[in-house]
Amino acid sequence: MEKNVGVYICTGCDIGKLDIEKIKGVVENEFKITPKIHNALCSKDGVEMIKKDIESGVNAVVICACSPRYKHDVFNFDTITVRVNLREDVVWSHEINEDTQELAEDYVRMGIVQAQKTEIPEPYIEETSKDILVVGGGVTGLTAAIECAKAGYNVYLVEKEPELGGWVRKFKKILPGKFPYKELVDAGSYINEKLREVEGNERIKVYTSSKLKSISGQPGMFNVVIERNGEEESFRVGAIILASGWKPYDATKLAHLGYGLPGVVTNIEFEEMVKEGRLEVSGSTVKAVAVILCAGQRDSEHIPYCSSVCCLTSLKQALYLREMNKDSNAYIFYRDMRTVGIYEEFYKQAQQDEGVFLTKGEIKSVKQIGEKLRVEVTNTLLGEDITVDVDMVVLATGMLSSMYGLYTIKEEYPEEEGATIYQHVKPAIPLEVALEKKGKEWILNLQYRQGPELPTLKYAFPDSHYICFPYESRRTGIYPAGCVRAPMTIRDCEIDARGAALKAIQTVELVSKGATIFPRTGDIDYPNFFLQRCTQCKRCTEECPFGALDEDEKGTPQPNPLRCRRCGICFGACPEKIISFKQYSIDMISSMIRAISVPSEKFRFLVFACENDAYPAIDMAARNGLKFSPLVRIIPVRCLGSVNVVFVADAMSKGIDGILMLGCKFGEDYQCHFIRGSELANRRMENVRETLQRLFVEPERVKIEQVEITDWERIPEIINSFVEEIQNIGPNPYKGF
Ligand code: SF4
Ligand code: SF4
Repeated sequence: MEKNVGVYICTGCDIGKLDIEKIKGVVENEFKITPKIHNALCSKDGVEMIKKDIESGVNAVVICACSPRYKHDVFNFDTITVRVNLREDVVWSHEINEDTQELAEDYVRMGIVQAQKTEIPEPYIEETSKDILVVGGGVTGLTAAIECAKAGYNVYLVEKEPELGGWVRKFKKILPGKFPYKELVDAGSYINEKLREVEGNERIKVYTSSKLKSISGQPGMFNVVIERNGEEESFRVGAIILASGWKPYDATKLAHLGYGLPGVVTNIEFEEMVKEGRLEVSGSTVKAVAVILCAGQRDSEHIPYCSSVCCLTSLKQALYLREMNKDSNAYIFYRDMRTVGIYEEFYKQAQQDEGVFLTKGEIKSVKQIGEKLRVEVTNTLLGEDITVDVDMVVLATGMLSSMYGLYTIKEEYPEEEGATIYQHVKPAIPLEVALEKKGKEWILNLQYRQGPELPTLKYAFPDSHYICFPYESRRTGIYPAGCVRAPMTIRDCEIDARGAALKAIQTVELVSKGATIFPRTGDIDYPNFFLQRCTQCKRCTEECPFGALDEDEKGTPQPNPLRCRRCGICFGACPEKIISFKQYSIDMISSMIRAISVPSEKFRFLVFACENDAYPAIDMAARNGLKFSPLVRIIPVRCLGSVNVVFVADAMSKGIDGILMLGCKFGEDYQCHFIRGSELANRRMENVRETLQRLFVEPERVKIEQVEITDWERIPEIINSFVEEIQNIGPNPYKGF
């Protein structure tokens, strides 16, 4: 597209302290464009001026004003729009002097080049489905199906068991869901009401005793094949909610807590006995029960995490016992009593029951003595050891994700037996490397190059990031909800189901317009592959964190644009530089780097800042009046994973003295919005070092720092110490070439 670039310079918000005439001269002399100057571009008048120019033929506007993170609703034009950050990145973060003036001029040059290299994207439009598949017919799946149907979407609800209802069918009562949070609720009535809602809703099609044979395609176009009674059926959906639930920890591994002795049961077994009205041991009615909390939980040998619901479940079960027999006693031994939020009311209620005895303590032993079970407890609140003789011991065992045990890391976890579960799949390991089928049935059976299931976090929960983006997964359009995602109460499962339903609805609506989902929500641009030059190196297909790229038999990438989150990690990976977006291309970034003026007598530094955390942190530093070196030029990137080694080579050959990459935290507790981008950037440092060695420059000139959005106070120190370190090494030998 032939570009007619308009450049607009604002002098408001202190930008006028710069020598605006000099900037104007740079634009006129170097780009043959006459910029327009305005004292408040964001005013009605300023915006009208730009709009009039667009009507008269300007098709790419360069707004030299505030950070692109502000006023995007104001500078929202129906054409290519590039924002040059003269406010936060220049005048608010630097003293005004010659270096700062040069900084402003460079940013304007880089912005104009960016506009010249930007193209208007066309969305990837296909005929998509807005139907939603819900996998799992427990509380979460039922709630998700009801919510999607209520919002007007057709739902396919697939359950592997012959009946819907999940675990709750086996329960006698569930925790209170309403004020004053003291009365238990009959589980049968609760689940039957949900079942009636599902069965009475014509938008929900239920498949019980059914398995997913395969899911192929992409959001909006998932082709689902199910198998029921030996018959196959196919349909197409736009999004998937995975509500496959949880399974109890294997109590046979808890012999040290007495499991295996008559009368020692798990909390699930206890629930079933109560429901069936057979609370007996060897034909005798149970009158005294000891409940051991955290049985095998918060324990590195078994389940290292807290399942979050067992304390409440134990209180509930103690009340059952008291309700069934007023002469009975329940002794609850806890490490900590965790009844968070409103359930504190329920805890207080149980505490007041004279037959419920609660104490902190460590279990020393559980033994059979005649017909009784003897529980010895040490370090109790009473300050003395306790021994109780009871008829039954209930172990509050924990919850495993239904995905636990589906796959594991080949090298580190060769045998399931004896291995601890926290060695589960690490986020950074590509699933296809990590996978080793353990002879179990897959749940989703995805036909993806990167494996048949959602990748999981270390405890086998397929969450993406429980604080920053809890509903996301690493497969676009597939949302885990309920206890497959994290242990939670029934009430929390309902809330989670509603969240996942909203995400699924957002997906089907956005992909129908060719737009992506979180975090670049609404972006219609997608990567183009110039496959004639592809060497089938497979880097892109292996590194895409979202499994967006399949492969043909030769290893040529087969993109699925609707699975793509537009992170640019493939673009950063490709050694042939053949992957580009219309609005974010290798040529564009390389050209922006080349647009920087690098005088032979001055140091120049480049910062690639992740637009999700690092760039906002820089903005915040500036807005708080913090100052940093004016020798640094900042280029925001979608993710550090999109930084191609060629950018480093371009910058070094241009004479840039050092490159600092600011990205999100990586590793097990990663905060990268694209999961693995910052980690991959770190791994690619090996290639970077090779590039530097080839260019005969010191490897210290390129550095990665992890920055959280809240780290804004550290920004000056991070930038200035890097600048100082490189100044001590000396100028880049390529400077002045
Ligand atoms: S842009 Fe990101 S999500 Fe899309 S194909 Fe490339 S690596 Fe995958
Ligand atoms: S990274 Fe580039 S060269 Fe390698 S397979 Fe992907 S597109 Fe082809």
